[in-house]
Formats: sequence, structure tokens, C-alpha cells
Amino acid sequence: MTLAPAPAFAQQEKKEPVDCTQVKCIALTFDDGPGKYAGTLLDTLKKYDAKATFFLEGQYVKSRPAYVKRMAAEGHELGNHSYSHPDFTKIEAGAVKNEIQKTQDAVKKAAGVEPKLLRPPYGMADLATSDVAAEFGMPMILWTAGSQDWSSKNVEAIQKQTLAVAKPNGIILMHDWVKQTVDGMPALIKTLKNKGYHLVTVSDVIKNEKLEPGDIFPVPAGWEQ
Ligand SMILES: [Zn+2]
Repeated sequence: MTLAPAPAFAQQEKKEPVDCTQVKCIALTFDDGPGKYAGTLLDTLKKYDAKATFFLEGQYVKSRPAYVKRMAAEGHELGNHSYSHPDFTKIEAGAVKNEIQKTQDAVKKAAGVEPKLLRPPYGMADLATSDVAAEFGMPMILWTAGSQDWSSKNVEAIQKQTLAVAKPNGIILMHDWVKQTVDGMPALIKTLKNKGYHLVTVSDVIKNEKLEPGDIFPVPAGWEQ
């Protein structure tokens, strides 16, 4: 970990305070990036004044740092999604720690901020993962539903699936390396807004969950505390 002072970055945009207990909120989340279409996605989010959460993979933070800097500057939330996407339940705790730390360091270097949320690759976690997440002070965030974008790779199917599973305080899994997700985003955002949704960050929708470091949310079936 570097102790060098963080470089001065443009101040983060002030977010409108949104109270998700009073209005309909939804959190779109983009995993494995920054993907190669992140720039187009950021343009769309900016145009429609929508916020999102990016669960970043450290190796791509290293290769595409400018997108990460822009995400933070434009008010999006940055989460940790490991460095190289291993299944955390199949590697040693020390290796999990290393995956998380390297990604924290890469994001800090790129954007001057450190992720406060962890999304384990494939959503796979066990009690050992939970212990490591707790050491980093981070809850583990899964999703309430997926867009199936990585499988359908079809603009209409992604929109249809996302609208079918959208619900207040939903956390939707998407990917910014799927071109069709990014291509269909303007229409999807417009439809969600027409349905009364505010597009906010994960931290906005989990504000009242009182999650502790190492907690997992939503709690998956079969999870034992
Ligand atoms: Zn992933």
C-alpha cells in the first residue's frame, strides 16, 4: 500500500440527496470493468443524470484508469470486484486478501478514492470471504436480479429482462463490456424514469439496511451466519 499523498482530483459532483424510503430508487450495477464501452456508458449516464455503481476488476482499472477517474468525478460509486476474477471460495484467504488489496490500490491510484463495497466474483462467497471483507471494512453486495445481458447480448432482451425484474430498491446486475447493454441504455433509462425510478448508487438503496463489514446483501439462499 502506498502512503504517498493522493493527487488532487477535481471535486466530486454534489449528488442530489435522494431518500429511497420516500421515492422509487433502483441501482444499476456494472461488473468486471471498466469495460471497453465504459466511456459511452458514462456519456449516457451523464446525459440522463443517472448514477450507477461500478464493481471494478483491478486488472482493468490498471489498463483503463481514465474511465475510473471519470466515474468517481461524475458521482458514480466504485466497488471492488477483485483483481483477476477468481472464485473466492476456491482460493486461500491470503489470496483473496491480495486480490482485494491490489484492486483497492489500483482504484485509489486512478481515482483518489477507495471502494467501500465488495462484490465477490460470480457472487461466490463463504464465511472465510466474509472475514476478509470484514478486515477491509466492507459489506459484500450481490444483486436482487440480473439483466442476463452477458448471456442474451441482445438490446431488446436486456431491456425486457431488466424491466421485468425492476423493483423499488432493486440492485440490478449488468456489464459494461456487453455492447448491447450500453447501446440500449438510453432507452432503458428513459423507460425506468417514466416508471418513476430514480437511478441511484448501491449505497443509496442500502442506506437503511445497516450493513456491517463482512455482511452479505441480499442474503443468498443457504447462507449461514
Ligand atoms: Zn464479475
